[in-house]
Amino acid sequence: MKQALAFLLSVVAAVGWAQAPAQPALDYDLLIKGGHVIDPRNGIDAVRDVAVKDGRVAAVASSLDASKALKTVDASGLYVTPGLVDIHVHVYPGPKTNDYAGGDSSIYPDGFTLRSCVTTVTDAGSSGWRNFDDFKSRIVDQAKTRVTAFLNIVGNGMGSGPIEQNLADMEMQPTADMALKHKGLIVGIKSAHFNGPEWTPYEKAVEVGRLAKIPVMVDFGGNVKAGRTLDDLFGKYFRPGDIYTHMYGGVRGEQDPETKGPSKAMIDGRKRGIIFDVGHGGTSFRWSTAMPLMKAGFLPDSISTDLHTTSMNAGMKDMLNVMGKFMAAGLSLRDVIAKSTWNPAREIQLEELGNLSVGSPGDIAVLRVEKGKFGFVDPLGGRMDSSQRLSCEITLRDGKVVYDLNGLTAERWDTLTSGARGGDPRWDNTRGRRR
Ligand SMILES: [Zn+2]
Repeated sequence: MKQALAFLLSVVAAVGWAQAPAQPALDYDLLIKGGHVIDPRNGIDAVRDVAVKDGRVAAVASSLDASKALKTVDASGLYVTPGLVDIHVHVYPGPKTNDYAGGDSSIYPDGFTLRSCVTTVTDAGSSGWRNFDDFKSRIVDQAKTRVTAFLNIVGNGMGSGPIEQNLADMEMQPTADMALKHKGLIVGIKSAHFNGPEWTPYEKAVEVGRLAKIPVMVDFGGNVKAGRTLDDLFGKYFRPGDIYTHMYGGVRGEQDPETKGPSKAMIDGRKRGIIFDVGHGGTSFRWSTAMPLMKAGFLPDSISTDLHTTSMNAGMKDMLNVMGKFMAAGLSLRDVIAKSTWNPAREIQLEELGNLSVGSPGDIAVLRVEKGKFGFVDPLGGRMDSSQRLSCEITLRDGKVVYDLNGLTAERWDTLTSGARGGDPRWDNTRGRRR
C-alpha cells in the first residue's frame, strides 16, 4: 500500500514536472529572501538571502537566484538568525506531581519551543543517571526540537522532597558513564537546589565534568543559609567554562550590598572564565538585580529561560519574551541574538549549532521586531516598559518548516489545485519540506 502510494505520488510529481516549463537545476530547497541576517558567529549583520538544501545551510549571500529554489519566502522587514538555543529548560514531563523528573513541573518541548523560534534546548538536570534512559526514549528521541541535557549529579534527578538533598545518591562513576555513553547529547552536569552546608554536590559534579570533559551548570540552592559563598564556588570548585545560572536572581550573593552592582565574587568569577547564564525561571530574574548589574557592565554570556510550568505563566513566558527584556534593558538586537545562539552553542560545546555557516544544520529563526506598547514583568511584580518586542514568524529545524505564524511558506488557499498541492509540485506544503 505504502509503495503504491509512493508510486502514485511520483507519477503526480512527474506530471507536474512535465507540465512546467523547462527549469534550471535546483540548487536550493528553500530560499529566505531579503531578510536582515544576524549571524554573530560569522560577523554578519546585514540584508542577506539564506538558502537551505538537504537540511543544511547551502548559501548565504547578498543575492541568490530565486529560480534555483523550490520555494522562496519573502523575508523583507524581518530578521533571519540561527535557530535559538535555550540552555536552561525542564522538558521531562510525566505522571508525577510537583516533579521535574517525569512530572507535571516539566513540559513537552515541542509545545513551547518551535513557536518561539527555539530549535535547541538543554534540559537542566531534570534527569539523573537512573532515569536518563526514560527521558531519552520518551522525550529526546520523539521531539522535533533538538533536545540536549545537563545530567543531574543526583541519580534520581530533580525529584521533589528529599531526593535532591540525598548525598548518597550523588554517584560519580555511573553519572560519568552515562555522560560518556551519550556524548553530544549529555552536554554538561547539573547541580541544583541543594540546601545543605556540604560542598559534596559541587565537588562531585565538577569531577564528573572533568571525566567527561563537559561543563557543570550550578543552581546554587540555599547557599546563604548554609554558609556557602559564591567566592568559594567560583574560586575553589568551578573551572573556566563552568556555568553559573540564575545570575540575576539576587538572593545568593550576586550583588554588592553597598552599590547593588555585581559583588566582588561575580567580578572575580568572570575574570576566572566562569560563564554567567540568565536562567530566568519563576523567581530568578529581578529587575532590581539585573539593572544595577547591567548598568555596571555585568551582562549575561547566555540568555536562557528555565522553562517550566510555573515560569512560563509568570514573568518569564518564553525565550522571545526574555530576549525582549534584555532589549528593553538597552542591549542591541545583535547582542541579544549572540547571547541566544552562538554563545550558548559554544558553552555546551556544540559549535555546529547557533550559526548560519554553510554546511551547518538548517536550524533557522525568522523573527519580527514588533513596535508598540509592551511591558516586561519580574516575579516581584515590577514592570519594565518597552516600545518593542520579538515575535517568531518561521522556525526551520534541519531545513524543514516546523512553525510558520503567518503562512509565509504556504500558498494562498484558492490557488491550491488538487488537495494540498500548489506552487512547485516538488515542495510539500503540508509538511514544510521537499517531497
Ligand atoms: Zn531550572
